[in-house]
Amino acid sequence: MRPTGKLHLGNYMGALHNWVRLQDDPQYECYFFIADWHALTTDYADPSQIAANKREVILDYLAAGLDPNKGTVLFVQSDVKQHAELHLLLSMITSVGWLERVPTYKEQQENIRDKDLSTYGFLGYPLLQAADILIYQPAFVPVGQDQVAHVELTREVARRFNTMYKLGRIEDFQISDPDAVRELKEQALAAGVVIGGPTVKARGVRPHPNFGKATVFPEPEALLTPSPKLPGTDGRKMSKSYGNTILLSDPEAEIRAKLKPMVTDPARVRRTDPGNPDKCPVGDLHKIFSTQDTIAKVYEGCKTAGIGCIECKSWAADAIVSMLAPIQERRVHFEQNPALVTDILADGARRATARAEQTMREVRSAMGLGSSLPGISAE
Ligand code: SF4
Repeated sequence: MRPTGKLHLGNYMGALHNWVRLQDDPQYECYFFIADWHALTTDYADPSQIAANKREVILDYLAAGLDPNKGTVLFVQSDVKQHAELHLLLSMITSVGWLERVPTYKEQQENIRDKDLSTYGFLGYPLLQAADILIYQPAFVPVGQDQVAHVELTREVARRFNTMYKLGRIEDFQISDPDAVRELKEQALAAGVVIGGPTVKARGVRPHPNFGKATVFPEPEALLTPSPKLPGTDGRKMSKSYGNTILLSDPEAEIRAKLKPMVTDPARVRRTDPGNPDKCPVGDLHKIFSTQDTIAKVYEGCKTAGIGCIECKSWAADAIVSMLAPIQERRVHFEQNPALVTDILADGARRATARAEQTMREVRSAMGLGSSLPGISAE
């Protein structure tokens, strides 16, 4: 997520809630970060809010339940320089046309009128995203439907890279002696392994015939986040830019005050008019946050005009307040322990850097980079 300030219920239901679920599934090893370089692609002229916004986002991540003790890696993008290096290297093989065709590129240029987005950085942001993803050689990227085009670009870039550059991997050698494996690995990397065929020889070890054909990047798949329709207080999609949000950190009184004027089914002009929760944004909130009992009461009361909208909204507020209670409790804990948050980010950056560097060694090697020179042996 870009650091745009405190997160709202739309961010939670659209992403965070699912991230916490993925984190709790033992088959996934998760990396989540705060995309501060991405913030600069649109806010380069005024970066004054980025630092404060980073703080809010990490507090909301932790409050929502992302937890480094469960193996999740949480970090700030600009703390892991390998993202920028991979972005640069991928830019060598990415056609400008691919970037211009990303649907959000034109859309945002047309919609965001108060900023000059005719910059190289803005054109390249989907490629930076591709680097953000590929640097962890992942199988999946958890995204909403609106990000699927970006994952498709990522797959195309990975495919082009893999077609152009091959890498010898140590797994391609049929050997089991760990010392020989280590030695081979060092030699392979020092020798700037392999474009197009095996060049590494180790004492008494023959490379597997597939050596030099291994690919660096997987083509990650979008793991679509099932996100319910979450209306904002004006009935449109909840979004910071519409000013219709309920924040994860809003106190109870604020939540109730925001829900009071919320739009309802227009058929209920008078208290005695029956309505339909399926045509009412408050009804949508109930479907997401309320218990089955409350939902049944809402349908019954709304359709028979047995309840008023004020009462119905107060039930929706009850449900949201109780859902947010443990989240807000965790947030207070982290707000009161800023050193703990700093440590979590530092540790996350260290772990992410180690994993990213592992990928970059393969990338540099496949692209013929590094300090070793032909004819000069590492031995
Ligand atoms: S009673 Fe509830 S669901 Fe029905 S129109 Fe009013 S707010 Fe909407």
